[in-house]
Amino acid sequence: MKDFHTEPEIRAYTRRLDDLLIDYYVDPARDPLLNYTSKPELAQALNEPDPPREGIGLDQALQLFETDILANSVKTWHPGFMNQMSAGASFPAVMGAALAAMMNGTLSTFEASPAATIIEHNVARWMAELLGMKPGSGGIFLPGSSLGNFLALVVARNNQLADSARHGMHHQDAVVLCSDAAHYSVANAVNLMGLGRESMVTVATNEANEILIEDFAAKIERCLAQGKRPFAAVATLGLTVTGGFDPIAEMAELCSRYDMHLHADAAFGGGMALTDRRDRFMQGIEAADTVTWDAHKWLHAPLTCTVLLSPNPHVFKQTFNPDAPYLFHDFDEQTGVTEDLGHFTPLCGKQFHALPVWLMLKAYGSDWFRHQAQTRLTFLDDLTAAIKNQPHFELAYEPRSPVLCFRYLPRDGHADAATLNQLQVTIREKIRASGKALFNVTDIKGTTYFRLILINPLMTMAEAQPLLHTIASVGASETAALRAN
Ligand SMILES: *Cc1c(COP(=O)(O)O)cnc(C)c1O
Repeated sequence: MKDFHTEPEIRAYTRRLDDLLIDYYVDPARDPLLNYTSKPELAQALNEPDPPREGIGLDQALQLFETDILANSVKTWHPGFMNQMSAGASFPAVMGAALAAMMNGTLSTFEASPAATIIEHNVARWMAELLGMKPGSGGIFLPGSSLGNFLALVVARNNQLADSARHGMHHQDAVVLCSDAAHYSVANAVNLMGLGRESMVTVATNEANEILIEDFAAKIERCLAQGKRPFAAVATLGLTVTGGFDPIAEMAELCSRYDMHLHADAAFGGGMALTDRRDRFMQGIEAADTVTWDAHKWLHAPLTCTVLLSPNPHVFKQTFNPDAPYLFHDFDEQTGVTEDLGHFTPLCGKQFHALPVWLMLKAYGSDWFRHQAQTRLTFLDDLTAAIKNQPHFELAYEPRSPVLCFRYLPRDGHADAATLNQLQVTIREKIRASGKALFNVTDIKGTTYFRLILINPLMTMAEAQPLLHTIASVGASETAALRAN
């Protein structure tokens, strides 16, 4: 067994890869979204306690990948996939990820990745421009906005709490403001930073979980009255559960008045910047000190591909500048697109995350992405109208972005709250097991709703109408079963 291959071998394997890709991408609805197997059954089938001592060869290993792994996976590139804020991976982006893996140069230094360093600086700048940030904005690619939120708060801490970078986190009075609908990675970030749970002050929200600005102002005042130091706030643009938007322009004004760092978590909602609703929901993002945006959501880069941006990208260098003379040779240090990216992040080995995005943007152009994003909003509006039209469905809130939450209501309407909540879970489980579609259920202020993420470009009204039908008929039969018991 060798780890380098002859031309005929490579041709044979890539032909196999061709077949896999063709099967996956050409007719996405042909196979079910999921071949449902119970957890114990699948564990029984795939569990293997020991590492293989002898290889079976790449040919057979690939065969196993198909029969064991691929066949027992959720097909995210399927019209019915609406479960996550990511759906499928764009074909050019998959090629980009494969080519980045092939090159395998770390992006921590220009020396190791000369062209890639320039491309990554560039693409980060492009992303900032697509969001409508100020000229000169830019930043870094990271594996995920969870990490982005963490690093943003570390930047905030170093800038706002004098001497914390040098002496550590001894600020017992330091607090971060956000709502309790902020992504859970914000709570983790606060914890990772060495702050306790009490240091996260949550702000009251409306029916779509969006921050109420009066309460934001009141909470800042209350913290100050208690002798605390509110040093940062997180505005979520595209809330995880509802797709709503915190009022970032007003939050920015208050943050500036009280000298607080404003971080915009636009991990999901960044995609809205490509639509004509950008100004309604995202005006004010220019005033944020840091912004995180996931390219693996609306742009369909493979997981996880994120930019952490700032109007002043050098804040990252000021925060994460490491001392590693074996790695960083500053003899020809210049500022600009050739600067070592390793100075801007705490990562050492660093993947070429920008390549999938670069390849997509080069191949399709940003106008194409704008068109795609706008199409998602049209679909959202059509589906919202269809749901409003049917008396046995109830919307949770008027949707702001392609995150739609609604529930099924039995025709006669007589059921207590707990039964209704359980009914949504049961309907969703039946549909999941059928392999036709996968969407989520969630709790919003005590009520259970279906939660559908509508960024999947394969999902259109042609697929959605029959799905609504299925939900209603499963709902009716489950209600009848409940009544019989
Ligand atoms: C998806 C999401 C995250 C988490 O991002 P990852 O890239 O999955 O780590 C954080 N915040 C919001 C608002 C999100 O939508």
